[in-house]
Amino acid sequence: MTKKIAVLPGDGIGTEIVAEAVKVLESLRQDFSLAIEMEHALVGGAAYDAHQHPLPPQTLALAKQADAVLLGAVGGHKWETLEIALRPEKGLLGLRSELGLFSNLRPAILYPQLAAASSLKPEIVSGLDIMIVRELTGDIYFGKPRGVRVLDNGEREGFNTMVYRESEIERIGRSAFAAALRRDRRVCSVDKANVLECTELWREVMTRVAKDYPQVTLSHMYVDNAAMQLVRAPKQFDVMVTGNMFGDILSDCAAMLTGSIGMLPSASLDANGKGMYEPIHGSAPDIAGKGIANPLATILSVAMMLRYSLDEPALATRIEIAVNTVLDQGLRTGDIYTPGTKKVGTAQMGDAVVQALRNI
Ligand code: NAD
Repeated sequence: MTKKIAVLPGDGIGTEIVAEAVKVLESLRQDFSLAIEMEHALVGGAAYDAHQHPLPPQTLALAKQADAVLLGAVGGHKWETLEIALRPEKGLLGLRSELGLFSNLRPAILYPQLAAASSLKPEIVSGLDIMIVRELTGDIYFGKPRGVRVLDNGEREGFNTMVYRESEIERIGRSAFAAALRRDRRVCSVDKANVLECTELWREVMTRVAKDYPQVTLSHMYVDNAAMQLVRAPKQFDVMVTGNMFGDILSDCAAMLTGSIGMLPSASLDANGKGMYEPIHGSAPDIAGKGIANPLATILSVAMMLRYSLDEPALATRIEIAVNTVLDQGLRTGDIYTPGTKKVGTAQMGDAVVQALRNI
């Protein structure tokens, strides 16, 4: 059955990098009989300009109907003074909540060819391949009560509530174990169970859910130690699963181990495996329109889409091999360029990946 992909390029470099990812999807359709159809729609600032809203109803309807969503990036200086509800980022948040995307998968992969780009020693990070699974819709970011109150003595006090239900922990746990089954079958659950009751429950539920996945080994780690281990010996991890706040911090830390923001894809999944796929970087207004942005994070997001939503793991691997091939050929966009390699633009990089896909 033909699968429908909603293509939402967004703003800034979003349109440039998504165009290259679409080339890759088009090549899979034509050369490898991938049964897909793609439909484009506006989101973010571009949608505001055309429809006075960052997530117009027609875009939301398309995203809901589709089997998967490919997103570029949103945002830019032009829209920074709009009221918060109309800012481009609200388009993204609206998509996440309307589609029920509670599981955020962020791989941190360091291609050996780019080891010099990391701030850590090459032997610590070369070949790094970890997956951070972050719960996206709960925790202290959404817990109530929240606010700032005035105490009897006139002093102000800020407060937020860390809260997780068993069902929420269980579903993110299942998402992490399912991801581990496609990888090295190890899950490290990150919590602060020595201090926070909420994460004590987290640990208990993870341990229970693990019994349904006997092929996967579960370990637990306190978040402070996890942060330390990520920079000390990151290759010890396969899948890390954690709550919204810890995941927010640890996934950025893990991303930076690789030193190349233009290389990192992400997936946000619902309970049925439908997902939104996007690079982790933003719309990069400083380089937008110059044709120099790195499209590989977006192309690798397509690989994640094939693996997690379209059930085409062989084609996903094919894309990853093609990306490896172009790096082996020495092709580099500006963000990953080092002397001795060949600097190319966005479109040239996309074309090279398509060529490599065909030659594998
Ligand atoms: P950014 O990720 O857009 O850019 C940070 C730096 O990385 C810039 O120097 C940029 O040129 C560079 N960069 C990013 N992606 C690149 C790529 N593919 N190739 C080469 N270089 C790349 O972050 P920012 O500058 O903090 O934010 C810019 C805008 O993007 C803001 O409006 C912000 O709100 C928005 N934003 C959107 C998302 C999203 O859509 N998911 C995420 C983060 C930021």
